[in-house]
Amino acid sequence: MQNFDLTGKVIVITGAAKGIGEQCAYDLADMGATIVATDIDKAGVEATAAKILESNGKAMAIKHDVTSEADWEKVVATCKQQFSRLDVLVNNAGIMMNIPFALCSYEDFKKQQTINVDSVFIGCKAAYELMAESGKTTAGSSIINLSSIFGQISGPMHSAYCASKGAVRMMSKAMAVELGRMGTKIRVNSVHPGPVNTELGLSAAKDAEKLGLVDDADERNKMVGTLFPMGRWGEAQDVAGVIAFLAADASQFVTGTELVVDGAYSIV
Ligand code: NAD
Repeated sequence: MQNFDLTGKVIVITGAAKGIGEQCAYDLADMGATIVATDIDKAGVEATAAKILESNGKAMAIKHDVTSEADWEKVVATCKQQFSRLDVLVNNAGIMMNIPFALCSYEDFKKQQTINVDSVFIGCKAAYELMAESGKTTAGSSIINLSSIFGQISGPMHSAYCASKGAVRMMSKAMAVELGRMGTKIRVNSVHPGPVNTELGLSAAKDAEKLGLVDDADERNKMVGTLFPMGRWGEAQDVAGVIAFLAADASQFVTGTELVVDGAYSIV
């Protein structure tokens, strides 16, 4: 029987104030993990941690801008001081700028890369030594990077976002090979959701309407029937389930791979 229990694992989740990160914090806490919930939105992430504590789970909140190396040092130092370990890092925080290529400024492009790509690089750099140390006495540690199906296929208004998520996908694979060969027992995988019912996910549909790419909400809703083979959007919980698998020892030989969570959206 494979081990899906997360008891004893310390898990950092970035972008945990809302959306996929928030849901992930609740679900992984329910599976026994201690959650270090971080977000640039201080009040939001404190509310996430408070909700876990109320239901007798284990959690703490840290205000954290994922583009700041100093903030990353603080997050990892807190894990070391409070728990002497860090088993799982979920690089979830991100933004999606829905701007057609012709209208996308270089500044917009750089902002998209800094928040979605640089953050993953500096986060993994800050965390990997403590994660390697923690993995010595367990089945190993796990880095889980949120990419997107737009790290695999193209999308309208998404040249900057696709660039960022493609980078996260390939950086995850390269790190998986290097950290594996270094003997760290740190696995690195990327997760690729299709459209998910969160503020970020819905923004693409709203911006497409503003730009006249779809006429109105009715037309958008009709598109669900044709574009989404399972007839619905993804929910944050759908993604959290895959992240839970990658966090658990059940996936201890899964590294350098990409898990798509899109109800077959990207293959029709
Ligand atoms: P969301 O907008 O609902 O939540 C994102 C969270 O990240 C927010 O709490 C926000 O405050 C935080 N954040 C943003 N910038 C930050 C920064 N600089 N430092 C720290 N925190 C910051 O988004 P979501 O839909 O939950 O998306 C989560 C991840 O999943 C993102 O990386 C996104 O690209 C990816 N994703 C989402 C979808 C989707 O349709 N929702 C699809 C594929 C991939």
